[in-house]
Amino acid sequence: MTTTTLLMVNQALDHILSVLTPLPAEHVPLLASYGRVLAEDVRAWQDIPPFTNSAMDGYAVRAVDAAAATVGAPVRLRVVGQVAAGDAPHAEVSPGMAVRIMTGAPLPHGADAVVRFERTRADAGDVLILAAPQIGENVRQAGEDVRAGAVALAAGIVIRPPIVGLLASLGYGRVACHRRPRVAVLSTGDELVDIDTPLTPGKIRNSNGYTLAALVQEAGGVPVPLGIARDNYADLHAKIEAGLAEGVDLFLTSAGVSVGDYDVVKDVLAGEGAMDFWQVAIKPGKPLAFGRIQGVPIIGLPGNPVAAAVAFEAFARPAIFRLLGRGGATRVALPATLAEAVENSGRRHYMRAWVRRVGDDFVVTTRGHGVTVQGSGILSSLAWANCLLIVPEDITHLAAGARVDVELLVDSLDA
Ligand code: AMP
Ligand code: MG
Repeated sequence: MTTTTLLMVNQALDHILSVLTPLPAEHVPLLASYGRVLAEDVRAWQDIPPFTNSAMDGYAVRAVDAAAATVGAPVRLRVVGQVAAGDAPHAEVSPGMAVRIMTGAPLPHGADAVVRFERTRADAGDVLILAAPQIGENVRQAGEDVRAGAVALAAGIVIRPPIVGLLASLGYGRVACHRRPRVAVLSTGDELVDIDTPLTPGKIRNSNGYTLAALVQEAGGVPVPLGIARDNYADLHAKIEAGLAEGVDLFLTSAGVSVGDYDVVKDVLAGEGAMDFWQVAIKPGKPLAFGRIQGVPIIGLPGNPVAAAVAFEAFARPAIFRLLGRGGATRVALPATLAEAVENSGRRHYMRAWVRRVGDDFVVTTRGHGVTVQGSGILSSLAWANCLLIVPEDITHLAAGARVDVELLVDSLDA
């Protein structure tokens, strides 16, 4: 699919995803499973809760015995025992009797309701019930949370903290998760120096290597930083070989895929593996390379810092999600009102934007950070943005006040 015509973002993404499959499962300790993707269905082998128990501190009773109870005419029951959380079920409630019970304690045989302390009054070894309980009131039935035999958690879900807890209550000390992809990050360019090197004329710091490594982490991958390769065949070839020797699952490069005199990434990739070069209808960041070297998928991202990050968002993030076994890679969308008119021209435009709550609406602006906010080299625009306004290819104009969806880059709006 090598082409010089403009490829749609979806076409390029479909092609990339078509060669990727989820990485195999590995069994990890429960707490290490947090944030990872479940590789197998998890079945419950026991009921949760495992036994019927009290939801309140109070008295376990037979509802029928106290059916006539009111504050004015309490029902007197004889207290024949007590049961605390952690006790094995031992007491029994016979007609006319009650057992003092604590939250989480097993419901005594014979009882079918718990009257909480606030609706009772102790009276010389008896208890006065001040309100009639319903059958099942304040009782947690065995299996009401999870039934034995049921699939409690389906493969593919992301393990969030309550899921860690659910796995614990089901007795899973180790969890089958897809292996996290190891993702090589190689920056290319003769102008680049690393952060601890003083800037000399003509040089800039390698920011892409760090942005991309952090994006890999955010997406759930493990970055393998490879530093900087120079714009010549020999150095680039050597750095790619070194990266492949690290046993990576995905390879990202930045820069050198355009039409400049020193854009050798294309030459090296073409020389080494099966490689396609595309002009993708995306803004910022048209040039993109994709293929495989020694079986490892490789995405050649553009060099401009915003273009590199946007191309990561459009292609590398979904690729990492696929390797992780996650279903999609769509960020959370928020409906908002556009503050100002926006123009577009035939490419999918990933506009950096800021959304905030205004009354009972959300308002999004693509300005507010200087006039150059949408330039492809303005990394501070992406640092400023808390969302992306993704304008589709076929939309040329959005009026001020238009209703749009924005994709959130943050997990809270008060940041
Ligand atoms: P290129 O695709 O090689 O033509 O690079 C496009 C632009 O991105 C140039 O201005 C480069 O200096 C810049 N650039 C390339 N790589 C990086 C990087 N790792 N960090 C920051 N800027 C970069
Ligand atoms: Mg370059």
